[in-house]
Formats: sequence, C-alpha cells, structure tokens
Amino acid sequence: MSVFDSLVGQSEVVERLKSAISSAKGGSSSQKMANSWLLVGPAGSGRSNAAVAFAASLLCSESGCGKCRDCQTVLSGTHIDVERFNPTGLSIKAEEVRELIARSAWSPSVGGWRIVIIEDADRLTESAANALLRTIEEPETHTLWLLCAPTLGDVSVTIRSRCRHLQLRTPSTASIEEFLLSNTSIDSKAAAFAARVSQGHIGRARFIATNQEARSRREEVLSLAFSLTDIDSCFKAASKILDIAQNQAESENSERDSQQMKQLQDAYQGTGRSLISGGARAIKDLERGQRSSTTRSVRDNIDSALLDIATFYRDVLVIQSGGEEILNIDLRTEVNEFAKTSSPKRSIERIEALLEARMNLGRNSAPLSTLEALFCALK
Ligand SMILES: [Zn+2]
Repeated sequence: MSVFDSLVGQSEVVERLKSAISSAKGGSSSQKMANSWLLVGPAGSGRSNAAVAFAASLLCSESGCGKCRDCQTVLSGTHIDVERFNPTGLSIKAEEVRELIARSAWSPSVGGWRIVIIEDADRLTESAANALLRTIEEPETHTLWLLCAPTLGDVSVTIRSRCRHLQLRTPSTASIEEFLLSNTSIDSKAAAFAARVSQGHIGRARFIATNQEARSRREEVLSLAFSLTDIDSCFKAASKILDIAQNQAESENSERDSQQMKQLQDAYQGTGRSLISGGARAIKDLERGQRSSTTRSVRDNIDSALLDIATFYRDVLVIQSGGEEILNIDLRTEVNEFAKTSSPKRSIERIEALLEARMNLGRNSAPLSTLEALFCALK
C-alpha cells in the first residue's frame, strides 16, 4: 500500500513526485527540492489528493507507506505540520493568505517540513495572490507550498512562474473502473457504468457507484434534459435544479455545521469564559463562514448537475453524427429518440448554452435567473 494508490491513471505525476521526495530526503544539493509547486488538472482528476499524497510521503519515514501515524494523520487532515486550506467562499482573500503565511513560518514540529496546501488556488483574489507572491519568491527553507488549480491559466503568471508545475490528466474510463473494483465492493457491471457516466471524475464515480441517492439524483437531473416542452416546464426545471442543489448542500453540510458549533460552544464554556463576551462574536464568525460554505456547495452542485445534462446532449450529438459510443448507456432509448427530433447544430447550441451558464455561475451570477435563461435556451 502507498499513499499514491489513490491517484488513478497518473503514473507520470507519481514518478515525478517520488523523485522529488527521494532527492529531498537524500539531501542532494544538485537536485534541490522546489518549495513551491502548482498542481493542475481538471476537476476530479485528483489534484488535491496528489498534493496530500506528496505531503504524506515527504513526512513519512518510508516515503508514503500509507499506514504509519504520519501518513494517516496527513491523509485525515490532522497532521500538525500540514495545513490544508480549502476555501469556503468563492474567493480567497488577502487576509486569509496573510494568516496562512504567518502560520507557515512556524518551525516544523516533527517532520522537518511545514506544508501548506491551497486547494482552488484559482480563487485567489489579486491582492491575495500578491501577498502570496512575496512569500513564494523567498520561501522559508522548511516550508513547502502546494497550490492546486484546474489549469495553469487559472493562476496569475507571476505566481506560476515561481512554481514547479505538475499536470494531472483526466483518468481513463478503464483506470477508474479498475480503481472502483479494487476499492469498493461493487460488481463489474456497476463499476463500468459509474466509470463511464462520471467522465473521468473519480470522486463522482465512487459516489455514483456506492450511493443510491446519488444515482437517483443523476436520473432526476438528466430527465430534465428531455422534458422541456414549454416555457412553464423550463421554469420548473430551473427551480428543480436549484432545489436539488440546495437539499444536497444542506445534507452535506448540516452535520458538520452543528458539530463545529458544538465544539466552539464547548471551547468557550470549557475555558470558563462567558459566551457573551468573545464567544458571541466567534459564533457570528462561524455562522458567516458556514453560510458562505453552503453557498459554495450549492453552486458546485448546480455546476455538476449542468455537467450531467451536458453529457445527455453530447450523447445526442454522437448519435446524430452516426456514432454509438454514448456515456449515458442507461438512457440509450431517450438519447436515440431525442436525436431524431433535432439537428446536430441544435445539439451544439445546447451544449454551448450550458457552458455559458456554467461560466456565468462561476462569475457569481444569480443562480435561479441564470438557470431559467439556460432552460429556455435548451428548450
Ligand atoms: Zn507512512
């Protein structure tokens, strides 16, 4: 077992990480370990998993055995020298980066390195990127910065020019299928289905493979693509997507939110300080953070629903072009029927409308009206 096992279809990246680690551990001066890395890859390719595996293998005495205390605590997010910054808001602010920088300067407690992982570094605001730039230009020798983003273009030129780059690829359907078979208890038919419909997104593949609710939600979302008959059905589809995204975000976040709140309240009562003084403010801050995190989950869920719908029109286009290799194999009849009722040109327009709506949502447009406009364009 190795911490790199969870990186599906990324053998080149794993090789490069392993050689960086062996040169860091060998202390070879000709192969100096870079202090700043930028890991890029499409959503679901495992870029943040790669960063976490990198951190674990650097701190593990056996270069990432996956079993020792160092590996386990890095993987579970509780290692004292590894900070995993996962922005809850739509952007990462300069103030948040300055706090990270201050903590990154602390001496390592156990392993010789302090490691900061910034997930979604594409969300750095300009002032946050500037604050970070000064630090990665002259990093502390014991600090390792691992930045993750979808593409190199998502990070400012000045930041990326100071980082070593690692490019993850979209894992193949076959490699995801193999991963599901060896890491879950599902049968080969279910693994093949989940690998195919998830389009190279490992997390989604695993979720669809092992979660009945996720499968029903996917069916419900996809059915909207071929049930747009009039304007009324378009508005209903828009509010349906928003409902699904909100319910999903609530069920994902509610347990974590109440746990965090309880911990905070216990912490204040435990220290004997009155909740009325500092505690009230801390609770307000936490509530604000939680609201922002839920807003982000809702947006992420809408985005993945729109991606699912795009696969339906993509399949329609495949059939219209004389192909057979569709993704949504469970909807072959619906795809075939739909292909007869429209033209390839119209399918391309629909896919473009979905892309545009995703871009607008990424730029913080109002979800409901964006979805309403989208479904009217898809009709
Ligand atoms: Zn280990």
